[in-house]
Amino acid sequence: MAARIPMKNPIVEIDGDEMTRVLWALVKEKLILPYVDLKAEYYDLSLTNREATEDAVTAESARAISRLGVGVKCATITANEARKTEYHLKALYPSPNATIRSILDGTVFRKPIVVSCIKPSVSTWKKPIVIARHAYGDIYKSAELLIPSAGKVELVYTDTDGFEKRIPVTEMTGSGVVLGMHNLDESIKSFARSCFLYAIDEKLPVWFSAKDTISKIYDGRFKELFNQIYETEFKGKCAAAGITYFYTLIDDAVARVVKGEGGFLWACKNYDGDVMSDMIASASGSLAMMTSVLVSPKGPVEYEAAHGTVQQHYYRWQKGEKTSTNPVALIFAWTGALAKRAELDNTPELGGFAKKLEQAAVAAIENGEMTADLARLAVPTPVKALDFWEYIDAVASRLYRGWL
Ligand code: NAP
Ligand code: MG
Repeated sequence: MAARIPMKNPIVEIDGDEMTRVLWALVKEKLILPYVDLKAEYYDLSLTNREATEDAVTAESARAISRLGVGVKCATITANEARKTEYHLKALYPSPNATIRSILDGTVFRKPIVVSCIKPSVSTWKKPIVIARHAYGDIYKSAELLIPSAGKVELVYTDTDGFEKRIPVTEMTGSGVVLGMHNLDESIKSFARSCFLYAIDEKLPVWFSAKDTISKIYDGRFKELFNQIYETEFKGKCAAAGITYFYTLIDDAVARVVKGEGGFLWACKNYDGDVMSDMIASASGSLAMMTSVLVSPKGPVEYEAAHGTVQQHYYRWQKGEKTSTNPVALIFAWTGALAKRAELDNTPELGGFAKKLEQAAVAAIENGEMTADLARLAVPTPVKALDFWEYIDAVASRLYRGWL
């Protein structure tokens, strides 16, 4: 075999939890390390290590991505009460993804990985739909309050000179809940810019959806700034690239999406993007066939899988079962990061390897070697569904053969 491919600069490697942590190690061992002399700065974001470092490791990993420019991240548990008990946590740490996104800002692009033997469950879709999820603010960086009894709720803003503006939210008639959230003009504008840059690059029309008829000021601001960025910075460039931009209400967008042919970039607010990307991923085949990349307006990028830690599979794996968990999105997170590193460092050999690995992962599936989530949907139906170990071996042997 040829010598391993050298890397000029390191990437940030962020390890995670449960089943994806198991897959992560195997993908690295069998698909990356035999070919690449990996330079990586490693951060362990397992819940156990986040607890041990009182979550300091999460912010450190995000700052490392800012510094080095490229990161690859495994799925991580977002702690809740059940996890607090399960892992004996001192505190409910915030979602690591929310922490990383609030440091890097930016937009998450989610794109289904297309394989020829799987047809989307929406029969009219002919091309993939890419979701652009605004990755800053809204409910992901909000303040919440449990209200014990009746009383007045107000919104108060105090500017840096001490000037105060106060409006009523509601008169609570009894116990309940309140939520205060925000966004920043700069973040919304950079969201719009990232969307247009990505869309021009990929030649995709842009749809942006929000709910400005109800949220006239908050969502209205999103609509206004998105339009402003389009009109002042991108109108000519979009026309030159032959792509269009249009704004519509989120409910209208949903209706159009399931009747349309696909093949566009759907720019969504943070929560809409969270929900809609899982819908697009599932309807395109499987949650495990969705890539996800966070693009910061300052330049750095972080690649991950769109799915979570596949908790239920992990419990079965712990009992000794070789589960049929699909590692494709994790493989594409690695290839995305390596290809980006190659582009920034001008090391085409590394970029070429990333492409070969992606081709091997797709070719295995198209040749009938796939995990159960895909085997259920594939035409023709494969003889058997592989466990994750067998699938990774199938990709490894294709990669090896292609390498010789
Ligand atoms: P999940 O891990 O995405 O899994 C939900 C279900 O989707 C699984 O039970 C499985 O269905 C299917 N699935 C997802 N990925 C799969 C894969 N690679 N191969 C095969 N099937 C796959 O979501 P969850 O179970 O709701 O969440 C588990 C943990 O992940 C939570 O603690 C959550 O906080 C965390 N999470 C992390 C991230 C992230 O770090 N990016 C994102 C979302 C959730 P079947 O059981 O039917 O096979
Ligand atoms: Mg989600």
